Amino acid sequence: MQVCSLCIHNEKTAKIDIVDGKPLCRECQVYLRHRPDRLRIREELEELMRNVDRAVLAFSGGKDSTVALYLARERYHVDVEAVMVDHGFMAAEAIENARKITEHLGVPLRILRYDYSDIFRATLLKGQSPCRACSRRTMERLRKYALRKSYRYIITGHELPFGHHPYRRMSGGIVQIRLLSLMSEEERLEILRKLPFEFPNLAGYTTNCLILGPALERYYEKHGFSFEHRRIAALVRYGLMDREKAMKKVEKPEVPEEIKREVYRRLNLEELL
Ligand SMILES: [Zn+2]
Repeated sequence: MQVCSLCIHNEKTAKIDIVDGKPLCRECQVYLRHRPDRLRIREELEELMRNVDRAVLAFSGGKDSTVALYLARERYHVDVEAVMVDHGFMAAEAIENARKITEHLGVPLRILRYDYSDIFRATLLKGQSPCRACSRRTMERLRKYALRKSYRYIITGHELPFGHHPYRRMSGGIVQIRLLSLMSEEERLEILRKLPFEFPNLAGYTTNCLILGPALERYYEKHGFSFEHRRIAALVRYGLMDREKAMKKVEKPEVPEEIKREVYRRLNLEELL
């Protein structure tokens, strides 16, 4: 099977053409035609951050938002409030990490509790990814929270920019800033090592969500590849993750049995076990 020479897409996950004698996926072809100017994106981020005095930090208790929180506070001296949207299926370790990290950095932590069972149940049943619907709802909750508390900025821990910019405008005048835009995994891990952060034992590209593992497993059984393949391929393309590590991340996940049971039981989906 052909594998893209720049990222990790293959014939199952993307359309691949031979370009100058090498296999190259369509997404990498677009990337090479409109290559983002890294320096410009970083400069734009620095410029923007000079004007950010207070902000909501979208804090999941996972590793990336932990790094974002650290940077917002220690590098940019932003008056941040860490706001965690608990969708009902957060790993206990993530909440524990959230408490420890915010205490360590002296940042207030607000936990907003909701029930996303409807999204998780429906997507697990169909063998689809819950991530898009979940993060869309979470961003909307955070946007409303920011409006209510007169914040203008929401900082998130995404490492890929919005196209050629590290931020986007949301409705109501709120600006979402991806503070880790184009930061490599190695840089992020270096910051994490300075903090009281513990890695939970979860499947997939997450350090906080109990749903992801079982959802990845269902999807994998149906389609024969991971629904995180596209996102992880992008990280490799942008040079933010090495190929070998990425290939491991898109393998069929091994979900701890007790997590699987707990998730299916709480969603009334035991018939799928
Ligand atoms: Zn590619």
